[in-house]
Amino acid sequence: MKPGDDDTPSVELRTDVPHPARIYDFLLGGKDNFPVDREASLEIAAVWPNLPASMRANRSFMQRVTRYLAEEQGIRQFLDIGTGLPTSPNLHEVAQSVDPAARVVYVDNDPMVLVHARALLTSAPEGRTTYIDADLHDPQAILNAPNLRATLDLDRPVALSLIAVLQFVTDEDEAHAIIDGLMKHLAPGSFLALSTVTADSAPEEVTRGIDAYAARGIPERIRDRAEVELLFGDLELVDPGVCLVHRWHPDAQSAAVPDEHVHMHGGVARKR
Ligand code: SAH
Repeated sequence: MKPGDDDTPSVELRTDVPHPARIYDFLLGGKDNFPVDREASLEIAAVWPNLPASMRANRSFMQRVTRYLAEEQGIRQFLDIGTGLPTSPNLHEVAQSVDPAARVVYVDNDPMVLVHARALLTSAPEGRTTYIDADLHDPQAILNAPNLRATLDLDRPVALSLIAVLQFVTDEDEAHAIIDGLMKHLAPGSFLALSTVTADSAPEEVTRGIDAYAARGIPERIRDRAEVELLFGDLELVDPGVCLVHRWHPDAQSAAVPDEHVHMHGGVARKR
């Protein structure tokens, strides 16, 4: 180590370029981010002022969906890809509040999420959580990970969650191939829950914001409601289908959020 290096975070974290996971963390009020992320976040939020509100609505969607799947659909196994930096309550905390024996596999490809994965691994003793450092672009590697096989029984239903991650898969054919490649290995009675960026509720604001992300090296795809519906393929959408995330099984708080502040469509569907 050279003198002065001891204060420098590991180079693998790439503190010289903004990362989506750290921007999301900063705009949700988290502390797991670097100056480059904070600068990018403030610049992006200047042109996309409702982005933090939309992210909060998305986080709440993840929590309501997880509770719904555990409570109303009896799901006890979860595969969450694009987990993000820990923000309590995390998915396993929601699932294990319904049944402490619930099992959760988290997957992300960001080194910063890996560093903080310990905070995601605070399973109830009856259940289990694991973390896999892998890329959504390689679904087979995720499915073959020994950690996944040791945690989830793929002969029984699993909820696959792709929450606020598919906007980073900009090729539509690839997005469909990824989803099909994962769902075909899951048992009948499994679920797909997803949310992704839309401009339907605020076309100019979201388009400006996506351009600002792209200018910082983070390309994203905007999808309209029909395109998000197509991502579910022939899975059976549960009511109310694909909608702005705050409108999906709303609680009092999300019901009060105006549509123009929410720039994510989401839905939940069942595999027959
Ligand atoms: N699902 C969480 C976090 C969303 S932020 C929530 O909704 O609250 C998006 C996350 O997706 C980030 O942590 C980012 O690192 C991750 N991500 C982006 N592209 C990815 C890829 N190709 N493979 C795995 N994770 C990815």
